[in-house]
Amino acid sequence: MPSDQAQAAIVVLLEAQGCGRAALRYRLRDWLISRQRYWGPPIPIIHCDQCGPQAVPDADLPVLLPYVANFRPTGVAPLAAVADFVAATCPCCGGAARRETDVSDTFLDSAWYFLRYPSTDVAGKPWDAERTARWLPVDQYAGGPEHTTMHHLYARFVTMALHDLGHLPFSEPFKRLRLHGTITRNGAKMSKSRGNVVSPDGYIAQYGADITRMYMLFLGPWEEGGDFSDAGIGGVARFAGRVWEQYVNPHVPSNPEPTFIGEAARVRQQLIMRVGSGIEELRFHVAIAALMEAMNWLRSHADRLDAETYQAFRHDYILLLAPLAPHLAEELWLRSGGKFSVHTQPWPIADETVAAPATIEIPVQVAGKVRDRIMIPSDADETAIRHAALASARVQAALGGASPRRIVIIPGRIINIVP
Ligand SMILES: [Zn+2]
Repeated sequence: MPSDQAQAAIVVLLEAQGCGRAALRYRLRDWLISRQRYWGPPIPIIHCDQCGPQAVPDADLPVLLPYVANFRPTGVAPLAAVADFVAATCPCCGGAARRETDVSDTFLDSAWYFLRYPSTDVAGKPWDAERTARWLPVDQYAGGPEHTTMHHLYARFVTMALHDLGHLPFSEPFKRLRLHGTITRNGAKMSKSRGNVVSPDGYIAQYGADITRMYMLFLGPWEEGGDFSDAGIGGVARFAGRVWEQYVNPHVPSNPEPTFIGEAARVRQQLIMRVGSGIEELRFHVAIAALMEAMNWLRSHADRLDAETYQAFRHDYILLLAPLAPHLAEELWLRSGGKFSVHTQPWPIADETVAAPATIEIPVQVAGKVRDRIMIPSDADETAIRHAALASARVQAALGGASPRRIVIIPGRIINIVP
């Protein structure tokens, strides 16, 4: 019997004989939250010989760290050496008592910090219930896979406990988790022992933070990572140079042509859609590739636009670049007369009807005779054009069921099928 079937059969047999039953086990383990360190929130407990451990009264919270000159590890808790800190009064009997000298582990803090974020200006309590209900739980948590078995588990545990105690209206802290990928170097995992760790500092000094950031985002899908290479970052730097050129030495459009003015509007609207969805889906490389393509288009066709179209293109372009190259975009925005800051401007909204590729009519010949005229998107690639031509019933009738020997496409003009 296969293993999974056998497991179920064993349970059925044991249950029938009354000597066992199916149960779910979570493998939860004890979590020691105290540390013998200086840096950390002191655990608010007072130890009394008469009354045992007592919670510090609410009015005396939080217990603050005392100043110490030496917090190096000595084998005992550094706070135990601070007599003023240790000496306390028992909240129960009023007698002399000792304050707890361990602090809590950072994992305990990181298990609930997101609950504090919307209420950092609130004194006297950890969070404001109304703000918490409005802003939390966290919509999207972006982090590394190393957190899966510790930090995320602790955060969920603490949130569930606070929910059960009636302090939170939700029991799961994060609605969606996105794990980032790994950046390799020439195909190898970066490690100190291999000596192939890339520090961003040198690249930031050479290229600036924007180029370094954009290159990291351009390496590959955010959730998969990519391979870091010096040649690659140079490509992003050249792209930034081309952007700079369009704003610092703008074109003076000289020969406006209606076809290109219309096409500029379409390219611009498509860019708004591609950058917007790229950012929302964390596919930053797609957003940057779209910006690169659109910049190439603008450079090649700027002469054939009118001043208004050229200006509208540049206006939206810099807003779309801003989240990915914030300093460069701000500089170019100000240089081209924008008001501070590019980052507080409204995000462009795409006009999807303009963004749709224009369709063109194209004749299809079979054995030198026009058999049909089909409509295809003006930017359709060769595969899509072949598909569309062969999908025509008239073309199929002319072919008489035979597969074509050759299909010759003259873009925008004619499709010629050789049976
Ligand atoms: Zn006492």
